[in-house]
Amino acid sequence: MLYDLIVIGGGPAGLSAAVTAKKNGLQNVLIIERDKELGGILNQCIHNGFGLSVFKEELTGPEFAGRYIEKVKELGIDYLLDTMVLKLNKEKEVHIVNANGYQIFKTKSIIIACGCRERSRGAIGTPGVRYAGVYSAGAAQKYLNIDGYLVGKRVVILGSGDIGLIMARRMTLEGAKVLACIEINPFSSGLQRNIQQCLNDFNIPLYLSHTVVDVKGKDRVSEVVMAKVDEHFQPIPGTEVTFECDTLLLSVGLIPENELSKDADIALDPKTRGPYVYENMETSIPGIFACGNVVQVHDLADNVALEAERAAMGAVNYVLGKTSEANIEVKENRPMVYCVPQKIHKDLNAKFVTCMFRVNQVIDNKAFVFRNEKGEKLGSQKTGYLGNGEMVKLIVKKDIIDACDTALNISVEEVDA
Ligand SMILES: Cc1cc2nc3c(=O)[nH]c(=O)nc-3n(C[C@H](O)[C@H](O)[C@H](O)COP(=O)(O)OP(=O)(O)OC[C@H]3O[C@@H](n4cnc5c(N)ncnc54)[C@H](O)[C@@H]3O)c2cc1C
Repeated sequence: MLYDLIVIGGGPAGLSAAVTAKKNGLQNVLIIERDKELGGILNQCIHNGFGLSVFKEELTGPEFAGRYIEKVKELGIDYLLDTMVLKLNKEKEVHIVNANGYQIFKTKSIIIACGCRERSRGAIGTPGVRYAGVYSAGAAQKYLNIDGYLVGKRVVILGSGDIGLIMARRMTLEGAKVLACIEINPFSSGLQRNIQQCLNDFNIPLYLSHTVVDVKGKDRVSEVVMAKVDEHFQPIPGTEVTFECDTLLLSVGLIPENELSKDADIALDPKTRGPYVYENMETSIPGIFACGNVVQVHDLADNVALEAERAAMGAVNYVLGKTSEANIEVKENRPMVYCVPQKIHKDLNAKFVTCMFRVNQVIDNKAFVFRNEKGEKLGSQKTGYLGNGEMVKLIVKKDIIDACDTALNISVEEVDA
């Protein structure tokens, strides 16, 4: 059978993409998920805070995923669980393995929605021997929320990303004592609401500009040593503080699952570590699209679901033969760390493009300025206040894109520049 669309990954990105594609005319849509259930990472996120933009309601992660899973079933979209995609190629062949063995499916279009994975202890070079008691925060969350197993009683958390913050609250609610959340940067990369609701409300101290310099123990972690760092992130001797604990949770970043893309020779952006994409989420291989955390690490599942709708519409148009060659390169400037999409089709079939990126400093009351390849100013928008590391969603109108031939430059400047 020749599918119209194969979606790889059944998290919010894959589910939203499949539902949108089916509703917009693609008949044979298949979702392939390696886990035993649809829902992706949301199945272990039992806290609320999901769905405010898409459903205008505050839902838990499983409830948010459940809304899409119901639609998948209503629309009769096929899905395979316990099935791993091993590779894909530009001929749109998808190689899978499951209990029925190794198979190759053919399809007209593909959406990669594989999410991301946590950075491990090895990736950040935390000192100390590999005792039991060191977990990534997401793994500890899965043990607790899916398997009902509390990984420790006295906990230190390294990294103040959202997963670490949420686990600080979750472990406290389950009776553990969270002694500290330690962050090497002078700011937290977590959402402000999570710092308030997960740390401050439970009197858990957040140590900014600190790191872990030693992990001690015999068989299991018994002490974690923290020190202050200087502006070059080097530990300052004499500032060490020791916590007696049995667990160290790592919340030190996420990396897009880009093995399938690499293997298929899809161009990757070294800044996002995900595929380069156009505004319709098409990758460098025509007919192969990507969305969600595999493209850029999102804070909010709602944004993932909306991005996936764009990928689905890209796939629908591709299957209908509506493709485009000419394109404009999007060039971001510091303090923007990256920009998704990296390219925009010139004959854009939309009134605007949503650009998403993070900034690496606090920005207060400046302007995003748009210029074409000749440096001509095409327009600007006020930034308002943006926190360090915050994800920004910037709408760029079609008339600005129409005024570019090969490049759109976006920079942060003084308001009257
Ligand atoms: C701890 C935590 C707390 C969060 N809290 C919030 C919150 O409060 N509010 C909010 O809006 N967002 C929150 N988020 C963010 C949100 O959950 C994610 O951004 C979103 O789930 C990403 O969706 P995704 O579909 O891209 O990836 P995922 O949900 O990770 O789904 C990817 C799926 O692809 C499958 N897959 C991967 N590779 C393959 C393969 N080769 N073959 C088959 N299947 C494959 C995986 O098994 C997985 O099911 C949180 C995230 C975490 C981790």
